Amino acid sequence: LERRLPVPDTGDELQVLAETWNELLGRIETAVERLTQFTGDLSHDLSTTITIMLTTAGLALSRERSNEEYRTALSTISVECEATSQLLDDLLAVARADMVHKNIEWKPVDISELVRQVCHHFEAKARLKGQLLTFNITEETWMLGDLSLLRRMVTILLDNATKYTPESGSILISLIKEHENIQLEVSDTGIGIPADALPKIFDRFYRVDESRSQDEGSSGLGLSIAKWVVEAHRSTISVDSTPGKGSTFTVFIPLVEPILATETSYLAAS
Ligand code: ADP
Repeated sequence: LERRLPVPDTGDELQVLAETWNELLGRIETAVERLTQFTGDLSHDLSTTITIMLTTAGLALSRERSNEEYRTALSTISVECEATSQLLDDLLAVARADMVHKNIEWKPVDISELVRQVCHHFEAKARLKGQLLTFNITEETWMLGDLSLLRRMVTILLDNATKYTPESGSILISLIKEHENIQLEVSDTGIGIPADALPKIFDRFYRVDESRSQDEGSSGLGLSIAKWVVEAHRSTISVDSTPGKGSTFTVFIPLVEPILATETSYLAAS
């Protein structure tokens, strides 16, 4: 903070330089804070799962136990291994996503076809949970973007909708082409999100309630990745939710220039 420059009110290059310098310092500080938070949260999560595994194994080995006790210990360790592995998968995805950022290959993507494919993929999962999954995709819609990142974003939203919706609930996905935007909505009749948690759910590692998320192997990284993908596409994501009633995630995407819509399909080409 001490390195901030006093900004002269001269309206010349010197003023611009001082303002730019101060803004850069601010950005560096935010980046360092985020990194510290990220590594801190990561160490905490990993050390929690590893401590549980070590303690469970240590107790099981401390004296002769019944088969039943060994089985219980092994199953606890196996659950924690899975949680650790899920955490590492998500971390790799974050690392990859951050790297990909520099090389996003903007191509025309048939977003309507992409959403339809992801919906088909989740139909079986929803059916198994006794949920009703329906989608409303009105017309063929194209945008500029990165196919695999967009698919990941849509997958995260649908995965959460099925994860946080109880049996016999329903999930509705709609893709609407508006005047200046494409609007993707993923609605569920699930457990919902308390108002005070709403501003935090896009933060890395944030989970509303660890007890309700842990069974599903959740890491609190999904929505942070989704938000990153959305912002990389110069789009926005918002959420509207009522606890006990359900949640709606809305993604606004600027519409592709009409001329691009006539080019080859990125989906078909890949
Ligand atoms: P996670 O891996 O825990 O699902 P996310 O970043 O995807 O991480 O989501 C963060 C938190 O937001 C979740 O732990 C969950 O509590 C809440 N959440 C996300 N999507 C939904 C939803 N559709 N309904 C209710 N809660 C949700």
